This record gives sequence, C-alpha cells and structure tokens, in this order.
Amino acid sequence: MRQQTLLLPTLREAPAEAEAISHQLMIRGGYIRQVAAGIYTYLPLGLRVLKKLERIIRDEMDRAGAQELLMPAMQPAELWQLSGRYSEYGPELIRFKDRHDREFTLGPTHEEVVTMLVANEINSYRKLPVTLYQIQTKFRDERRPRFGLLRGREFLMKDAYSFDTDWEGLDRTYWRMHEAYIRIFTVCGLHFRAVVADAGSIGGEGGTHEFMALAEIGEDTIVSCTLCDYAANLEKAEARTIEAQEKESGGDSQAYPHASRVEKFHTPNIKTIEQLVQALGAAASQFIKTLLFMTADGSPIAVLVRGDHEVNEIKVQNYLGSGELQLADAETTLRVTGAPVGFVGPVRLPADLPILVDQQVSALSGAIVGANERDYHLRNVQPGIDFPLERTGDFRNVTEGEPCPCCEGTLVFHRGIEVGHIFKLGTKYSERLGARFLDSNGRNQTMIMGCYGIGVSRLLSAVVEQHHNETGLLWPQSIAPYQVHIIPVSSKDEEQMQLAEAIYEQLLQQRIEVLFDDRNERIGVKLKDSDFIGCPVRIVIGKEAVNELVEYKERQATESRLMTVEEAMKLIN
Ligand code: ATP
Ligand code: MG
Ligand code: MG
Ligand code: MG
Repeated sequence: MRQQTLLLPTLREAPAEAEAISHQLMIRGGYIRQVAAGIYTYLPLGLRVLKKLERIIRDEMDRAGAQELLMPAMQPAELWQLSGRYSEYGPELIRFKDRHDREFTLGPTHEEVVTMLVANEINSYRKLPVTLYQIQTKFRDERRPRFGLLRGREFLMKDAYSFDTDWEGLDRTYWRMHEAYIRIFTVCGLHFRAVVADAGSIGGEGGTHEFMALAEIGEDTIVSCTLCDYAANLEKAEARTIEAQEKESGGDSQAYPHASRVEKFHTPNIKTIEQLVQALGAAASQFIKTLLFMTADGSPIAVLVRGDHEVNEIKVQNYLGSGELQLADAETTLRVTGAPVGFVGPVRLPADLPILVDQQVSALSGAIVGANERDYHLRNVQPGIDFPLERTGDFRNVTEGEPCPCCEGTLVFHRGIEVGHIFKLGTKYSERLGARFLDSNGRNQTMIMGCYGIGVSRLLSAVVEQHHNETGLLWPQSIAPYQVHIIPVSSKDEEQMQLAEAIYEQLLQQRIEVLFDDRNERIGVKLKDSDFIGCPVRIVIGKEAVNELVEYKERQATESRLMTVEEAMKLIN
C-alpha cells in the first residue's frame, strides 16, 4: 500500500478526552476516529487489524467445529418478551419502534435469535450437538462508554452458542471452547488469564470463565495465587469457602454422583511423574489428551495435556490457563511449547505423586482421575460434575500478599480487561423459546445451551494496552496491519526512490504485507509516523542506496542495522 493515497491521518497530539493509552495511540496512529460517545469509525489501518483478529478467531472457531452464520442486529421485541429479557435487561438495551409502531431492539447479544432459529430448524438428536457463531456488531447503551474501543456502545463481538443433548455434551463443548479461547488469545500475543467468573456456580449445573487481559486500565480485579492454579475475578466471584463447597458435595470432596458411569480400575504401572512423562512421550501422537490429576490429599488438579503430532512435543495446560508442569527434578522438566502467554502459574506436583495415564482416553468425557487410592484410578469422570474443578476459597476480603488459603502460595492482584466470557447457560433460553428435540428413544427433550463471547474490538484495544512504548504501537506480527514499512529518506532522491520501489515490488510479489511511505515529507516526520503505526519491520532507504544498502530495524530494536537488500529480504522471510 502506498501511503501517499492512504487514509492514515496521524496526529501529534492525543485528544484531551482520551484517557486510555490504547485510545490515545489508536487515534494518533490513524487507526480509529470517534463519531459519538462509544461509537467509532475504523480507518483502513484499524480495519486491517480488526480483520486479522477476526481471522484468528474464525480459524479457531471452525477448528473447534463451530459453524459461522450472520444474524441481524435489528430484533423484534417479541423474541425478547419470550425470553423474559425485554423487561430484565434495563437501559443498556436499545429499543425503538418501526413506522408501524412495532417494537424492536438492537441486539446486545443474540441468545433469543439463535435459540429461535434452532428451535425452528432442529428437532432431532441426530442434528445435535451444534455450535453456531457470528462476528457481528452489538449495541449496548453503556452508562459510561469510555476508553475508546474498550467500552463502546456499538462494538464488534464474536458470539457463539452451543446446543447439546445433555450436560455431559455441554461440558465437552464448553472445554473445547475454553481451549479455543486460549489459543486465540495466545496467537494474538495477549497476556491474559482465564479466571473463574463466578465461583458459586462451579461444580453445579452452571459454570463460567472470563478471559482477562492483564492491564492497569482494566476495570476488573483478579486475584490469583503465585503457586497454585487458583484465579478468580474478585468483583464477580461469589466466593465460597472450601468448607461450604464440601458441604454441598455431601461433606466429601470425592463425591461421585454418577457412580454408575464412573469406573474404578487397577493401574499399577504408572506411579510417578517420571513414568507419566514417559507415557506422554508415547501419547504425543494423539491430538488431545485430557488427564485429571488428583493429589493424594484429595484436591483435584485439572491438567489438559496435548500431544502435538508434528512437533512431537507436549503442551500442558491447567484449567485456568496454560503453563508448565514442573517436575521436582529440574532435569526432567516438561517444557511447554506454543508460547504459554497468559499463563496462570506453574502447577507443581510432588515427584512421587501417584498418577495414572490411560492411553486410550482422548476426550474430556473419558477423563481419568486418581482415585485417591494407591494404584487405582477412575474412568469416565465428568470434571465439574463428579467433583468441583477449581479449588475455591473465600476471596472476598483478601488483600494482596496474603497467604493463599489453598496452598503455601501468596495472593497477588492484577487489573484485567474482560476480553472473553464463556458460560454454561443450561436450559434458560431453550425452555422459554421451545428449543426441543426428540432423543434416540423418541422422547421430547430440551436442548442444553452454552454461550461464548469475545469482544473483538475490545481485544484490539487490549492488545494495544499491552504492546506499545513511548514512541507508539508495537504490533505482534500475527495482527500487524502491515509486516514491513518501507521509508525512503527523501522522496526527491531518484536512487532512493528506485530502490524503494524495487523492494516494494519484490515484497508485494512475495505476498508480504508492505506499507510504502512514498509521501513528500521530511524524514523526521516519516519516522515518527512509522513508530506510531508500529509495523514489526522498518526498512529505511537513505544515502547508501547507491550501494544497494538499506537500514533494517525491528520495531522493538533500539538501533537499525545497515545491510544489503538481500540480507534484509532474508530476515523478512
Ligand atoms: P463488561 O463486564 O465489560 O460490561 P459484559 O460482561 O457485560 O462486559 P458480555 O455480556 O460477557 O460482556 O459480552 C461478551 C464480551 O463482549 C465481553 O467479554 C467483552 O469482551 C465484550 N464487550 C462487552 N461489552 C462491551 C462493550 N461495551 N464494548 C466492547 N466490548 C464489550
Ligand atoms: Mg456489561
Ligand atoms: Mg463482565
Ligand atoms: Mg461478561
């Protein structure tokens, strides 16, 4: 793209009302412009980044088996009356009448529309489960729209809705989405945590996690432990004490309500972490392995273990993020691959912890759990149903630095931006809107739903909050508007312009996204703009153009390097 004709209005000064750094930078870098409070235009550069985020999200949604559709923003009020939300939702819901005096809303979310669609189109278990998603504009008349795209009144959301025949199915879908979310945010270069949004509902029918981008501007406070896997949204957590939790499960942290399904078996072969590592090595060809570990004292530690076909490496995630499964012996540390950003903290397990691995198990539904009895394990345990997944404590009145109630760790606080939210809805909407199906025995049943949101435009701002310095933006490669920025020092210098044109053409041919500053501006202005825009690589073509030498600089680097065009091309590829 040639900058001369590109609508890229960079500004020297941030507008006074822009409080958040991401808001300031995106205005100054020519990414967005405000139209009204909480309502923005995405300029060409902003739209490019947004499209990249969308693409990453689509890839992961498709891979998780979700199907894309597109639903309308304008929704008849009748649907909202059916669900009961027309009266419940409050002033955030934008309501209006058409010319025939019929009432409508502008969708803040799409449970009603999607549930009605499925109620009309699907009536047999044969067509289930199904997950539908869209990337679409949402409207919420927020009381305080602010921080640019972080809290808009019109914003872009990816919203997905799942329909399963039973709770076990929902559980599988839910964790598949959880995993997809971890991948999405990791690919976007975000530092995030998956936190328990409402500890009160864990272990029961519901369940919900929020994905929090760590940033000072964030409106939520997250508490997490330095050692164990606990993380929760302090503002939301309807926290329960461990005692209360145990009471609910009948005073027994190993309550197995579906005892008929849960199977206990003798497994004397693998008893230590070392044996586990060996077993995992063999299992590395399996795409997903889900294992549940339970320590000898009965506290469950959920760990997702993924074996990756191609790289033959093992990825470990605990349920609240991804991290390292550290072994007592430093030499046998199980390394995590795939950039574990947003990681909750190492899961430390004692080396002699009895752990069993079943090589046949490849889905969440067949999870294996330590039976808290040496050499015995349980098969077919439903995480979150047969026992609570997360260890919860009463975090309502905690202060930073306090000892963790679950382990010897310390509690730390972070500020977070809610970029994603997944939720087990159950039958609330399917019941009210009549989403029923005939099961394999011809019985009429209600579908079990889940919903999964990502604030796409908010995510854009959250990435900027984390990726910038005092000179401007620092895009992660995966979402940069352009990978390379070419800047001739003087647009009047023929030699420089010729070389710049040649490099530009070459990069275009190689399908590398390139921005070419062909404007007749002073070099100081061009470099300042370039920093603001924040492309990962910059190539400045100056006096050395006669010798076919260019100045190559990665955005984070402090100095540029003089090199031949070939060398620069090699680095870019
Ligand atoms: P918040 O707590 O910030 O108001 P929410 O819990 O109301 O968000 P959800 O209903 O869970 O939001 O919507 C799903 C996702 O949509 C959120 O996780 C967030 O990323 C995004 N989102 C919600 N409201 C806004 C907004 N006003 N502007 C931009 N993104 C938003
Ligand atoms: Mg809200
Ligand atoms: Mg929220
Ligand atoms: Mg939410």
